[in-house]
Amino acid sequence: MKKIIIIGGGIAGLAAATRIQQEISAGTQLECALFEGSERFGGKISTEKMDGFVIERGPDSFISQKPAAIQFCKQLGIEDHLVGTNPETPNTYVYTGGKLVTMPDGLSLMIPTKFLPFAFTPLFSLMGKIRMAFDLLIPKKADDSDESLASFVRRRMGEEALRKMAEPMLAGIYASDPETMSIGSTFPMFVETERKYRSLILGMLARKKAMLLNANKRPASKFSLFMTLKDGLGEMVDTAIKKSPDVQFQSGARVESISGKEGDWSVYLEGGGEYKAQAVILATPGHITARLLQPVAPAAAEVLKQVKYVSTATVTLGYKKEGFSHALDGFGFVVPKCENRSILACTWTSSKFPHRAPEGYVMLRCYLGGALREDIAEKDEHTMTRLVRQDLKEIMGIEEKPVFCKVFHNRKSNVQYQVNHSVRIDTLMKELDAFPGLFLAGSAYRGIGIPDCIQSGNESAESVIQFLADKSKAEI
Ligand SMILES: Cc1cc2nc3c(=O)[nH]c(=O)nc-3n(C[C@H](O)[C@H](O)[C@H](O)COP(=O)(O)OP(=O)(O)OC[C@H]3O[C@@H](n4cnc5c(N)ncnc54)[C@H](O)[C@@H]3O)c2cc1C
Repeated sequence: MKKIIIIGGGIAGLAAATRIQQEISAGTQLECALFEGSERFGGKISTEKMDGFVIERGPDSFISQKPAAIQFCKQLGIEDHLVGTNPETPNTYVYTGGKLVTMPDGLSLMIPTKFLPFAFTPLFSLMGKIRMAFDLLIPKKADDSDESLASFVRRRMGEEALRKMAEPMLAGIYASDPETMSIGSTFPMFVETERKYRSLILGMLARKKAMLLNANKRPASKFSLFMTLKDGLGEMVDTAIKKSPDVQFQSGARVESISGKEGDWSVYLEGGGEYKAQAVILATPGHITARLLQPVAPAAAEVLKQVKYVSTATVTLGYKKEGFSHALDGFGFVVPKCENRSILACTWTSSKFPHRAPEGYVMLRCYLGGALREDIAEKDEHTMTRLVRQDLKEIMGIEEKPVFCKVFHNRKSNVQYQVNHSVRIDTLMKELDAFPGLFLAGSAYRGIGIPDCIQSGNESAESVIQFLADKSKAEI
């Protein structure tokens, strides 16, 4: 019987376990154990329920364009619990010049695709709009080297597009500094669009046209851009464990070190215990994986140490709906750094996902910290609550007392894909080729979103299954 150990019970580790369970159910002789260091599974995914409120500590939804998360929900039998965003309030706002300004219709990420809404939006100055339109004329980049998001946007669309859109919207998703984050590893579609069409605006228009032409041929997607689970993303975690009865899940089992060589690995738990396996999937955050790899694969560990993490925090507030002073007519707003506020973004959760707050209440979630304001994410709960309430008062005019306020610290939780990230990951994977039976999964490598992590977990499980099958054949 071949044995597999998965280290880390975040969504990547759980996706790997689910795939291995499928293989066991199909009759392959495998044993699998998953060791999770903390007392609960799910890693960054953590849902808390309180008096009818569904509160997400980390991620609150995932993108449907990458199919792995929806596929995973289907596989777990919870597809009918998926819910999309509220179609009645799709506005998103940018806080600029002391006001909340609606994002103009037709702005696809940061690229204008409709002339009139773009021409009349107060979001950009006239000079800013003219500079953005220069994208139609500017030649494409001469070489294929990676660059920062800031350098890319500045080059194609100018400083104002960077400050008001790319930094809060795009770098914001990654809690990153646009001056250091890699465009190639975070928004490869922009790079591909420039390569193929030269101009981002022309490229987006061509893609829109192709989509319209194909719309008649394909059934319309029943999924909105962002999807979530009605009772919170934690349901994915609980169901993955429930549906993998042959995997031995152990929480409170922190791995201290690993040792061994090709196909003969030992995993040691903190507080004692040695477990042997032919294959190990390391699904821990990059900095922990680097520490575990150090004694066995030091060169790989050195590469992985270069992948940085920053701290963020979320502050979720519930209010009585009656007398609430804001219409919450949208999904929320983002705040450019130049506005000098504490919060980076605020999701109007009860408008975006109405089932997340009980009847008669509204709920907001503010996001703080990241590479640009990491000091704020380290502050204590009391200070953070005060800063958030101050911002909400000045930005949205909310003076009401919340019925609850929950602060969650996500210390060194957000991985940073810096310029040339993909080169580092290619080097890391090459280094690891010399250690058959060791596999990596998770957000540190080729995508941070939940669908990316699920895919990464699936792929690592596929590689393990193949590796063990080859090993069995060689032994015969
Ligand atoms: C605040 C925040 C908001 C986010 N929002 C979104 C969003 O809205 N949509 C989206 O798609 N993505 C979002 N993301 C990104 C996404 O949630 C993460 O990239 C993803 O959940 C990471 O999954 P993972 O399995 O790779 O790692 P993790 O979730 O970090 O799991 C790793 C696990 O390893 C365990 N572990 C660590 N050390 C050890 C050890 N020594 N032994 C055993 N176990 C160990 C940890 O306890 C943890 O459970 C967000 C991330 C954060 C931090």
